[in-house]
Amino acid sequence: MQEWPLLCHRIIDHAATCHPDREVVTRSVEGPIHRTNYGQIRKRALKVAQRLDGDGILIGDRVATLAWNTWRHLEIWYGIMGIGAVCHTINPRLFPEQIAWIINHARDRVLLADVSFVPLLEKLASQLEFVERFVILTDCDRMPITSLRGAIAYESWIDSVNGDFAWKSFDENTAAGLCYTSGTTGNPKGVLYSHRSNVLHSLMIAQADVIGLSCNDTVLPVVPLFHANSWGLAFHAPMVGSKIVFPGAKLDGASVYELLRDEKVTFTAGVPTVWLMLQQHMESNNLRLPALRQLRIGGAAPPPTMIEAFERMGIAATQGWGMTEMGPVGSMGALKHPFEKLTGAERIAQLSSQGVAPFLVEMKITDDSGERLPHDGRAFGRLKVRGASVVKAYYGLDDRVLDKEGYFDTGDVATIDEHAYMRIADRSKDVIKSGGEWISSIEIENVVTAHPSVLEAAAIAVSHPKWGERPLLIVQLKPGLAATKTDILSFLEGKIAKWWMPDDVVIDSIPHTATGKIRKSELRERYRNHSLPGTSDSSGNS
Ligand code: AMP
Repeated sequence: MQEWPLLCHRIIDHAATCHPDREVVTRSVEGPIHRTNYGQIRKRALKVAQRLDGDGILIGDRVATLAWNTWRHLEIWYGIMGIGAVCHTINPRLFPEQIAWIINHARDRVLLADVSFVPLLEKLASQLEFVERFVILTDCDRMPITSLRGAIAYESWIDSVNGDFAWKSFDENTAAGLCYTSGTTGNPKGVLYSHRSNVLHSLMIAQADVIGLSCNDTVLPVVPLFHANSWGLAFHAPMVGSKIVFPGAKLDGASVYELLRDEKVTFTAGVPTVWLMLQQHMESNNLRLPALRQLRIGGAAPPPTMIEAFERMGIAATQGWGMTEMGPVGSMGALKHPFEKLTGAERIAQLSSQGVAPFLVEMKITDDSGERLPHDGRAFGRLKVRGASVVKAYYGLDDRVLDKEGYFDTGDVATIDEHAYMRIADRSKDVIKSGGEWISSIEIENVVTAHPSVLEAAAIAVSHPKWGERPLLIVQLKPGLAATKTDILSFLEGKIAKWWMPDDVVIDSIPHTATGKIRKSELRERYRNHSLPGTSDSSGNS
């Protein structure tokens, strides 16, 4: 059979050939709604490639983006990848010093940024050792006056070439993308995707039970292009010819709702914090979205009440689990036979599982010594994965990250049941170890968020003189609603094991990370000296 290298730009070639008029709609960062199509995206991506080539960017060089989800960001992706350079997507929600560290670590040569990030970059510019030129994603008229090195408006930059250019050819194992994990401890770590891993990942998520978009779908990726490879949607949608709707910088409930409604979106994906805003907006205004067939939740565990609320509004809400290190999809929560017939609470409970691994991902759970644990739905273990789009080593680090069978330790603790459904109990560093046994913080949080006054909750470990650690539950209430510690504890009673009951409950605000996860490290720091009732202090001197 033929050799046909799996190269990312072949996806946009296909979209431009077979679905040239399929729309790509954006709420632009500058404000107005912008409309283009795959034919145009490819033409302009070729100009990006030609311009980068002309500027001396070589195969393997890193070119960075600091940008929201827009059509320009999409054409830049393909333009960079099409000459064998590496598209490094930076998360603008990281702390400025982390952004500078990442840009230097990646040795980015060109940085393309939305106009809103110019002030931030001006502050960081003197620290950015390797950036030769800043391209600002706007046109000449809206270009701000800036001191940034070689700054030029994107539209002028690509208009200086004619687009008469051919993609470069190279091996399918060439690096295509670079994404840093937003680690809560230590420096961020880079994951380098290859053309091959991206194309295979895209084919993997095209399976019907994973994401499975079609040419008649309209997809709104709330998940940013800079978070975990956009969950693969920037490849999957053009691969099958789905219309794309990009939300730009506005992710509040009302703005996302408006786009979902006006563009008749059929599939959308994002993290629970964004969906919480949409849920509140829709519930308080009694709204519906008749075209929306699937709302996908990932990046953190959604509370079952969220899945239930969207189901009540006629929207199928399922979750996926994955991580930057996996390209990123690792499992999907579709209800497989015989669970598809479940109704009511049983259905919601099943949908609250993180789901089943698709073909191209293999999973196992092990104890701390690496011994496999049974898939019985009860044994908690370290979740390890291998597959066609799973990391082998972090970018620029020599450390071996695979076990002897070639599995990568995800850092998550999970159970897998006899039907292959996986459930995340915790990140291994968040797990609460009481008397040597593990308590799942996610499960406590899932139960308490069903309380009508609770907006969000986080269970964390606090040291305890007798048990080692005990759970402290931190609860953020919905605006204008009230609940006491006693209310919360009596709500939990009978719904979780007795020894999982939190020793204390506090009402407080819940902080989030740059990728929308609950920032438990900050809460652990905030409550480091918290005295649990019944202990005179938290240092073991009760
Ligand atoms: P990131 O690399 O930012 O995508 O983060 C990956 C981590 O997010 C995983 O290792 C999990 O701890 C967490 N995560 C992602 N999806 C889910 C989910 N559906 N349920 C629980 N945790 C999740």
